[in-house]
Amino acid sequence: MGAMTATPVSRPAERRILLAAPRGYCAGVDRAVIAVEQALEQYGAPVYVRHEIVHNKYVVRSLEQKGAIFVDEATDVPPGEIVIFSAHGVAPTVHEEAERGALATIDATCPLVTKVHKEAIRFAKDDYDILLIGHEGHEEVIGTSGEAPDHITLVDGPEDVPNVEVRDPDKVVWLSQTTLSVDETMETVEALQGRYPNLLSPPSDDICYATQNRQTAIKMVAAESDLVLVVGSKNSSNSVRLVETALNHGASAGHLVDNASEIDEAWLDGVTTIGLSSGASVPEVLIDGVLEWLRERGWEGLEVVQPVKEHMTFSLPKELRRDLRAEAAEKRKQHAEDAG
Ligand code: SF4
Repeated sequence: MGAMTATPVSRPAERRILLAAPRGYCAGVDRAVIAVEQALEQYGAPVYVRHEIVHNKYVVRSLEQKGAIFVDEATDVPPGEIVIFSAHGVAPTVHEEAERGALATIDATCPLVTKVHKEAIRFAKDDYDILLIGHEGHEEVIGTSGEAPDHITLVDGPEDVPNVEVRDPDKVVWLSQTTLSVDETMETVEALQGRYPNLLSPPSDDICYATQNRQTAIKMVAAESDLVLVVGSKNSSNSVRLVETALNHGASAGHLVDNASEIDEAWLDGVTTIGLSSGASVPEVLIDGVLEWLRERGWEGLEVVQPVKEHMTFSLPKELRRDLRAEAAEKRKQHAEDAG
């Protein structure tokens, strides 16, 4: 009998999913969505919402089913009704329109967007030229620019820097949209500093903690992933930035999907590690759907990659808190009368 030779067994590489954390809902989105739900509960349907409360199709549809009506402008709301302003913030002219329509307003602007509005107002008052780094047409940029239209110039990325014109190169400050790519924004700032050496920086980061944390986590995940899937809607700035960040930090491929039904099975060919994350306006149920979809196709191994923990929460818009308190006081009074 001849010597036996071992036949090499080719084992499939182990497949795994790297789940980025933090991901999904940030404190500003959570607050805005709860504000609409709370308003519906407190005042009954319909409650009007100017623009998408947050940039996510699933969230908008769910709120519509509960009785929210989404409109393009405050002028589309019938007089005397309640209108909620979205997390992205609005220009002062929108508040004026609401006042003219005798609308009751609930402002669900994220407090971190409000912070940028206040910076814009302050620097405009000090007569600075404000270079607002952001994406043209984005609702947040429109809202912030509306605070000081005569002082703000939009700078849409480093390639826009040569076009910038200011009155006094020694009296210029930059601010930014809250949901940008940290890396690309710094590139733009460096290009601006090249032109304006005395360019002033904002007193604190305008790119918000949630955007930064989600980008930090996806960078770690991307470095080990063949494919990165980001759950989020196409008009969600921070979700789009997550795909770009993944592609710039090692992922061979990256796709933005609204939900599991948009994943193309062909993307998984030859892939052994999938990175997964979601934008700041995405509820966890959509990530669960993607994990389920992958499990059904044999993707079992799951590792969570969490470089940073989040603890941020924001209280509800003051209009709701005020009414909530009044309602609670009324109920207490009624209870005392009934008991007496
Ligand atoms: S992404 Fe940041 S700025 Fe936007 S709503 Fe969330 S916490 Fe606020």
